[in-house]
Amino acid sequence: MAHLKLHIPGPIEVSDKTFEAFRTPMIGHRSQDFKDLYAAVMPHLQSLLYTDRLVYLGTASAWGIMEGAVRNLVSKGVLNCMKGAFSDKWFDVSKRCGKEAEALQVDWGSPILPEQIDERLATGRFDAVTLVHNETSTGVMSPLCEIAALKEKYPDVMFIVDSVTSMTGVKIEFDKLGIDLLLAGTQKAFALPPGLSVFAASQAALERAATLDDRGYYFDLHEFQKNAEKSMTPSTPSIGHIYALKSKLEDMMAEGLDARFDRHAKLAQMTRDWATGHGFTLFPEGGYESQTLTCVNNGAKPGGREVDVAKLQGLMKERGILIDGGYGKLKGKTFRLSSMGDETEETMQTLYGLLDESLAKL
Ligand SMILES: *Cc1c(COP(=O)(O)O)cnc(C)c1O
Repeated sequence: MAHLKLHIPGPIEVSDKTFEAFRTPMIGHRSQDFKDLYAAVMPHLQSLLYTDRLVYLGTASAWGIMEGAVRNLVSKGVLNCMKGAFSDKWFDVSKRCGKEAEALQVDWGSPILPEQIDERLATGRFDAVTLVHNETSTGVMSPLCEIAALKEKYPDVMFIVDSVTSMTGVKIEFDKLGIDLLLAGTQKAFALPPGLSVFAASQAALERAATLDDRGYYFDLHEFQKNAEKSMTPSTPSIGHIYALKSKLEDMMAEGLDARFDRHAKLAQMTRDWATGHGFTLFPEGGYESQTLTCVNNGAKPGGREVDVAKLQGLMKERGILIDGGYGKLKGKTFRLSSMGDETEETMQTLYGLLDESLAKL
C-alpha cells in the first residue's frame, strides 16, 4: 500500500534522511563509539534546551519519563494542571504511582494560567506541579514563561513540564525558566520515529529524587545523571534513534534554532488562516493557540462551519494524506492539522490545496 503522509499531530512524518541515519550499523552501548555518539549530540541538545545541564536520553515514549518524573520528584503532593487528554491523564498516572495528587482542571480549549496555579500552591499542600505546555488534544499552548515565574515564589515546588509537542518547535529556555524536569518524546516535533525521549533535570530535582527511596530503577534520575557524566545511558538505549537524533540535530543547527521556531510560528499561523478563511473557528481560546498544530473547531464550540470530519478524513486519505479527526471526546467535533517537524510553506500549501479539493466534494 502506498504511504500516507502523516499530518496528524504525532507520530509525524519521518524523512528518508532520518531513516537513513537510523539504520546505521549497530555498535555496543558500552563502547567508545557509543560514548562518542552521545558526546556528539550533547552540545546540540544543550543548545536546544538552553541549558548547561546534561541532557538525558530515555528509551521509552514520553509517558515513561512522565511517570518517572512523578516517582522521582513528588514527596508531599502533586498538583496536576489539566486542560486536555494528556494533562488529564497525568493526574491518573500520579495516583497510580501512589502519590497524593490534586486536579487543577480547566475546560478543554482553555489554557492553564499562572494565577490558578498560584492559588493552589499557596495552600502549601504541594511540592510538585505537572504542566503540559502544549496540549496536543486541544491545540492549546499555556503561557510557560508566566507560569515559570512562580518558581521564584515557590522555589521548593518541583516544576515538571511536558513539552512533547513543543520542544524544537518553540523556544524553551530550561535554565532561565527554572524548570526542574523538562521532557519530550521524539515522534512529535523532533520528527523521529517513536521510542526515544529527551529530558533534563535541575540540580534541585536530583536533590529531591535523592530523598525518595521508591523511585525505581528504569527512570531513576540518579542513574541517568551518573551515566550521562560518562556519555552513557543506564540501560541499552535505542542506538538507531540516537544516530537519527544526531542527524536531525545537525539539521536544526544548520537551519538555526530561531529560524526553526519562526518557521513553526509561521506555519501554524498559515494553518489558522486557512481554517478561518474557510469559515471555521478555532477550538483553542484566542491567544493560546499552539505553534505546532492547529485544532479546528467543528461543532465542539458554538459558531463556525461544521463538516463531516470522518468523510473529510476519508477524502484526504484518498489523496495520500492522513489528518486527525479529533481526540477522545472531541472526535468529529474538531479536527487537527500538524505543521511540526520538517514541514515547509510548500508542503503546507499542498495540504491546504488538498483540503480545499476535499471540502468541495463534501
Ligand atoms: C503524544 C503526547 C504524549 C504521550 O506520548 P507517548 O509517546 O504516547 O508516551 C504526552 N504528552 C503530549 C503533550 C503528547 O502530545
